[in-house]
Amino acid sequence: MTPTITSRLRRTKIVSTLGPASSDIAVIRKLALAGVDVFRLNFSHGAHADHAARHEAIRAVESEIGRPIAILADVQGPKLRVGVFADGKVELRPGAKFRLDLNDAPGTVDRVRLPHPEIISAARVGSNLLLDDGKLRLVVVATGPDYLETEVVVGGWLSERKGVNVPDIVLPIPALTEKDRRDLDFALELGVEYIGLSFVQRPEDVEEAKAIARGRAWIMTKLEKPQAMDNLEAILELSDAVMVARGDLGVELPPELVPLAQKRIIRLARQLGKPVIVATQMLESMITAPTPTRAEASDVATAVFDGADAVMLSAETAAGQYPLEAVGIMARIISTVEQDAGWQSQMQASRPRAEAYVADAIAAAATSVADALGARAIAAFTLSGTTALRIARERPACPIVGLAPEDEVARRLSVVWGVRAQSLGQETPVHTIEDVVGQASEAAVSDGLARTGDQIVIAAGLPFGVPGSTNTLRVFTVT
Ligand code: PGA
Ligand code: MN
Repeated sequence: MTPTITSRLRRTKIVSTLGPASSDIAVIRKLALAGVDVFRLNFSHGAHADHAARHEAIRAVESEIGRPIAILADVQGPKLRVGVFADGKVELRPGAKFRLDLNDAPGTVDRVRLPHPEIISAARVGSNLLLDDGKLRLVVVATGPDYLETEVVVGGWLSERKGVNVPDIVLPIPALTEKDRRDLDFALELGVEYIGLSFVQRPEDVEEAKAIARGRAWIMTKLEKPQAMDNLEAILELSDAVMVARGDLGVELPPELVPLAQKRIIRLARQLGKPVIVATQMLESMITAPTPTRAEASDVATAVFDGADAVMLSAETAAGQYPLEAVGIMARIISTVEQDAGWQSQMQASRPRAEAYVADAIAAAATSVADALGARAIAAFTLSGTTALRIARERPACPIVGLAPEDEVARRLSVVWGVRAQSLGQETPVHTIEDVVGQASEAAVSDGLARTGDQIVIAAGLPFGVPGSTNTLRVFTVT
């Protein structure tokens, strides 16, 4: 078996967040060519028109380069944020007084709007307010009906619309705000593959979003509240995919618990066969520098060793000075880890046991047949994406070619570890075993995975077109 894994065959996927630094189609094209598999539209920032323009650019780039690209519409959720500043940002000095109020006027070094009356009424003298992912800390020294007077404990620059976390206060707030509902409708109307659901606390929060999406997009639950960690299994069961959202999770949990939470989430998600993304601060220093710190390189490598489906860039590509460099280095770190023999044996050693149903048994069998033969690819004919997900769950040594009749499903699979998705189009006939072999062979050869004489393993349900019918395992040699 050949252990050469070129970066083109990278298994771990890259998610890039778009923003002011990356809205131009030329930049989006370069990011895609540098290796981005999934673009994230962050509905915490920007107007609907900005997201619509980025969406259109992504779809144009996707058809140019001929590889499915997923779009993740990340809705803000009940994230608490400060309002705007007259000068965009202010510097808060330790010991200074700083007021948070309901006043619409742009903020100054003395005050800013906090458009959340529920925090203002719930906070007490002595409550802590953490700003900008916990970088700044304020303590409440006096309260009023429509303001909080605070003292700066840990100071620094505060930009407008930065997040506010209140770890000491239990807030009675719903998972989807009015803005989220409008954003959700807008994103579903545009057509996206994933909805990122922020600040989920309970399984019901996921159910609510699923009821709105009605299958039009998969729900990616962001795990960023300690409360969600207490309900992890039930939340994962209901979610289509999850994100280890270390930014907010790391503000609400002490830092030393974040690595363990990351490992626990990845382990459980992999066991359930749900795609899992590791997010936030992965190459944070690259917002302003062309190379990462060595600790950041190690952080990306750790997520790859944990077997995460994807790693994500946030401000690095949305607002940083080096978006392309960040994607390029991330791709290199991933590829380098994936060529390591230790990584390959770790993927095999951490393979979860197959569950007792036919499609899962076929997935496990396809993986062991491919391993035994040194097959060049496993081709999965997948109507809903499930067969490809179950094979990816096995983390096989060879790439998985996900063949889906719909563009939508192929795009969804671009998040998934090891899957190279192709859309067959509804018209392509896939009825007989000959059709299946012909399509799989053509797909693997055109993707550059296999040549004459190479073996390919196929998993399919016949007749193709009936969901949940995966029952066939085939091996063939490319002629
Ligand atoms: P955000 O989510 O970037 O939308 O806050 C990710 C995180 O909290 O890590
Ligand atoms: Mn977050």
